[in-house]
Amino acid sequence: SREIHLNAYLKGAPKKENYSVVETELPAPAEGQVTVRNLYISVDPYMRGRMSGIKTYIDPFKLGAVMEGGAVGEVVESRFEGLKPGDHVMSMLGWREAYTASGKAVQKIDTSLLPPQAFLGIAGLTGLTAYVGIRRIIDLQAGETMWMSAGAGAVGSAGIQFAKAMGANVVATAGGQEKCDYLKTIGADHAIDYKATDDLTAAIRAAVPEGVDGYFENVGGTHFTAALNTLKQFGRMAACGMIQRYNDAEPASITDNLTFIVGKSLKIQGFIVSNHLDIQPEFIKDLSNWMMAGKITPAETIMDGIEKAPEAFTGLFAGLNKGKMLVKI
Ligand code: NDP
Repeated sequence: SREIHLNAYLKGAPKKENYSVVETELPAPAEGQVTVRNLYISVDPYMRGRMSGIKTYIDPFKLGAVMEGGAVGEVVESRFEGLKPGDHVMSMLGWREAYTASGKAVQKIDTSLLPPQAFLGIAGLTGLTAYVGIRRIIDLQAGETMWMSAGAGAVGSAGIQFAKAMGANVVATAGGQEKCDYLKTIGADHAIDYKATDDLTAAIRAAVPEGVDGYFENVGGTHFTAALNTLKQFGRMAACGMIQRYNDAEPASITDNLTFIVGKSLKIQGFIVSNHLDIQPEFIKDLSNWMMAGKITPAETIMDGIEKAPEAFTGLFAGLNKGKMLVKI
């Protein structure tokens, strides 16, 4: 079975030579263990932080070891009570074709209604991230206007559909006309190609002259600046991610319109989804209802083969994905 290892910590954009594909033996399961063949693995922007070798809210990746991360697979052999061959499971055991591990390191998923890969996307931490930002941090109300940045991505596309289901008006930004057309198909009231404008503030104002009540921050930099400009009085910002900065080798300068935070009495709160798992039951209830009402269309971009994982990961920074970026094993 093959797996992907990180060779060295990096500065700047990740390159092919930062990883190696390693062939490993797959041991038979001992008592309490299962052997799982992965079906899909997840590549996520937060992994870039773990490649810098610096401890943040999460430890850096170990060098010369498998890249950890979300994966869904099928049990092929089990010596763990509660799991049998054919069961689908989710794990954080990362970029590998298969593994033998303790049954306690995996979580059984119910794939009777949703395909396994949905648990890495809209029904998993990705969907939950969008939900936490909108429901708990922005506290979006029906009739309000929300701006979703990186709208065509995994969190963004989920969040747009959730905000529409909650009765909000949504303005979304993404790179390129094709992505903007896609934003309309998932319900965005206004779609703006941030690459086609050098004045994002003006573009948001043209779409929603009265401004936005909530801003879902996935990008940072130019988008953060435009958000401070266009948020209304008492506006709320959920700071979820700032992907525009993740590959910066040096810290970038900050925006000079920070005084709007005071003048407009803005509420800005960052969050990490894993600190909000208590909201999961509410999320699953809402998501099920919205899905049954036909309000949600999950989207995925899929690359084939474990050796494509680094390319899929780097593709996140080039915007190669619509919806959740996955690698099919
Ligand atoms: P996405 O599927 O959104 O992929 C990243 C997208 O970001 C790309 O498709 C690209 O879209 C856009 N992008 C990349 N580089 C830039 C840039 N320089 N400027 C503007 N846009 C850019 O990834 P996720 O949905 O997984 O993650 C979205 C955000 O949410 C990230 O910032 C991530 O770190 C964060 N996150 C935070 C979590 C938390 O707990 N706080 C949990 C999960 C994710 P385009 O073509 O439109 O540029």
